[in-house]
Amino acid sequence: MSVAENKVTLGFEAEVKQLLNLMIHSLYSNKDIFLRELISNASDAADKLRFSALSNESLYEGDSQLKIIVDYDKEQRTITIADNGIGMNRDEVRENIGTIARSGTRHFFASLTGDEAKDSQLIGQFGVGFYSSFIVADKVTLETRDAGGDPEEGVRWESNGEGEFTLETIKKADRGTKITLHLREGEDEFLEGWRLRTIIRKFSDHISIPIEMQKETYGDDEDGKPVEYETVNSASALWTKSKDEITEEQYAEFYRHVSHDLKEPLARLHSRVEGTNEYNLLLYIPSHAPFDLWDRDPKHGVKLYVRKVFITDDADKLMPRYLRFIRGVIDSDSLPLNISRELLQENQLLEKIRSGAVKKLLGLIEDLAKNEPDKFKVFWKEFGQALKEGIIDDYKNKDRIAKLLRFSSTGNDAQEVSLDDYISRMQEGQDKIYFITGDSLSAAKNSPHLEIFRKKGVEVLLLGDRIDSWLTDHLSDYEGKHLQSVARGDLDLGKLEDEKEKEDINNVSHDFEALIEKIKKALDGKVADVRISHRLTESPACLVSEAYGMSRTMEKILKEVGQNVQGSKPVFEINPSHALIAKLKNETDETRFADLTLILFDQAVLSEGGQIDDPAAFVHKLNGLLQQLIV
Ligand code: ADP
Ligand code: MG
Repeated sequence: MSVAENKVTLGFEAEVKQLLNLMIHSLYSNKDIFLRELISNASDAADKLRFSALSNESLYEGDSQLKIIVDYDKEQRTITIADNGIGMNRDEVRENIGTIARSGTRHFFASLTGDEAKDSQLIGQFGVGFYSSFIVADKVTLETRDAGGDPEEGVRWESNGEGEFTLETIKKADRGTKITLHLREGEDEFLEGWRLRTIIRKFSDHISIPIEMQKETYGDDEDGKPVEYETVNSASALWTKSKDEITEEQYAEFYRHVSHDLKEPLARLHSRVEGTNEYNLLLYIPSHAPFDLWDRDPKHGVKLYVRKVFITDDADKLMPRYLRFIRGVIDSDSLPLNISRELLQENQLLEKIRSGAVKKLLGLIEDLAKNEPDKFKVFWKEFGQALKEGIIDDYKNKDRIAKLLRFSSTGNDAQEVSLDDYISRMQEGQDKIYFITGDSLSAAKNSPHLEIFRKKGVEVLLLGDRIDSWLTDHLSDYEGKHLQSVARGDLDLGKLEDEKEKEDINNVSHDFEALIEKIKKALDGKVADVRISHRLTESPACLVSEAYGMSRTMEKILKEVGQNVQGSKPVFEINPSHALIAKLKNETDETRFADLTLILFDQAVLSEGGQIDDPAAFVHKLNGLLQQLIV
């Protein structure tokens, strides 16, 4: 094939163009990061090769000394970054660089704020790192050949970042990728060895393979001497060093590397576990939720190494789902190096590592809660909802997780109330933790079920997050106290109600027996029961779930997601001291009785955020009653 024949010009996808435009024109204030991004890709490529070579030595092609070489050429005004990692074949180049079918890109555009400083922080976090080379270069040439591939089938990719790129087949004897940046006018500052060394030491010191640069020669004419290279970074796996050998800056830089997040992490955990199952872990809690926290399949944030060899960043067994926001590295001394991804799924040692890591992480979060309340607030705001899943998924650690939960309550709108706080404020004679679930905080807060609790000054937890109905299904007790929904079952206030109040209600019940029978008939088929309420002080009526079975909020959520739930019928409770109920009691006109009853029922449905069966009929009946006021 002639060179002309095999060279094709292709257009970038629209999103890539937009991205490139953004890089070039607005991310300029942070331009040093191009080097970090390219070195990070080279290091990933080395990790991938090392892992693949575990099962196929020949991929090394006789050279297993993985490294990255950074060079510059003052005359050509170029910088090159070369690695002997896994490389790419033609399809991979096309796929990885040029088209971005990555879910990250869409999130990236959605997250842009227009504030240059903020937006530049987003690069890399979204898997768009390679394109940052166009911040300083007006032409980028990438030459690559995949490990174990045909030296005649290398690939050259080239672009000026303006909408198109070319692909051609080239000869490439050595495997790996070499990227040449042709610097823009005015970027000559990067053509200095010390400048590049400074950037590398600052951003890429922790990279675990050597990053080499040509030794600087000073003054003397050294022509004829072979070019010598030296290692610029410290090239050791940071997590295997002892804590006192690591600076804060190195910890921070490593976090940036594993998380692609330029913000400071909230907290970190670095420890070594000794014994029969030995491992190192260096884990971080970010200071903000990753963009894919709520995706169905979020990227896993913890990388697994075995004796410093990267194995995978895709082991969902490494962290439970509810801790999916954790970033970092776990490095095992005990797992076999040639462990396959399939075997990882059921490995006992890995299971132990995971449960050990989870315990330590919970300890770290507990420590924030206890000693760094401001940080814990941030933690809860960003990750509290995810942590709640732990109550459902992690039976073994349920008690510890429950201690970390924070809720809103009738005394505090912000999610700041712990179950321990709640217990410490319980009223004399109160033996239960009361809560209400709703579609939202305001739905929960305005529920008629809270009336009696307000009157008696009893705090009720307000649970307005979607997951809360599941949560409370799995957390029936805390520290020996039952968690009781105020919207469920026959309300037993226990000692909170004195004998006289109980007697009053009993007496009233007698008076209302006939009315209750009439209401049951009028609401036939809609309700499981009708009874006198202990809950209400201001509203005429409300709906209550039966003591067992699904909560009404849960029922609603399941219906919304299209599940066919056999909803249990609610209990209709009436407030005997309300004027409308008194009116109903004395109503002799059958039609008016039926209309008023149905209006009260529908109102009760509405007041808990539900949907009534026949809104038109409701409005019609209500207008009928209103008109009687006018005449
Ligand atoms: P990310 O690294 O987050 O995936 P990048 O834009 O930095 O995003 O890189 C895009 C993709 O290009 C990488 O995922 C990888 O598949 C490929 N790539 C980039 N640089 C190299 C390299 N030096 N060697 C092999 N593949 C590379
Ligand atoms: Mg990258």
